[in-house]
Amino acid sequence: MEIFVVLKKFLCKLVKNNYNGGRDNEIIIKKIKTLEEDFKMAYKITDACVNCGACESECPVNAISAGDGLYVVDAATCIDCGACASVCPVDAPQPE
Ligand code: SF4
Ligand code: SF4
Repeated sequence: MEIFVVLKKFLCKLVKNNYNGGRDNEIIIKKIKTLEEDFKMAYKITDACVNCGACESECPVNAISAGDGLYVVDAATCIDCGACASVCPVDAPQPE
């Protein structure tokens, strides 16, 4: 499991930094999703969310959207990169 987390962080960093000019982002995201299906990991936004919206633009796969009183993550789209958690002022996004 630990090797998966390390690999996934590496792949997410490639996407975030637009490795190879972003030309390979789609392929890399597909690979991350394949890994995700095997390990079934995603982030969830908890009730601590204060609805600031800071996380939405950070998500490399547009998995976050405004919900009813708090933002929500589409678990099927989330690649578990943790970028939302890194910008949240109240630590609302948590790994499921
Ligand atoms: S962890 Fe957060 S930023 Fe990363 S893909 Fe999932 S919802 Fe988007
Ligand atoms: S950054 Fe945190 S508080 Fe702001 S919308 Fe996202 S989850 Fe909610």
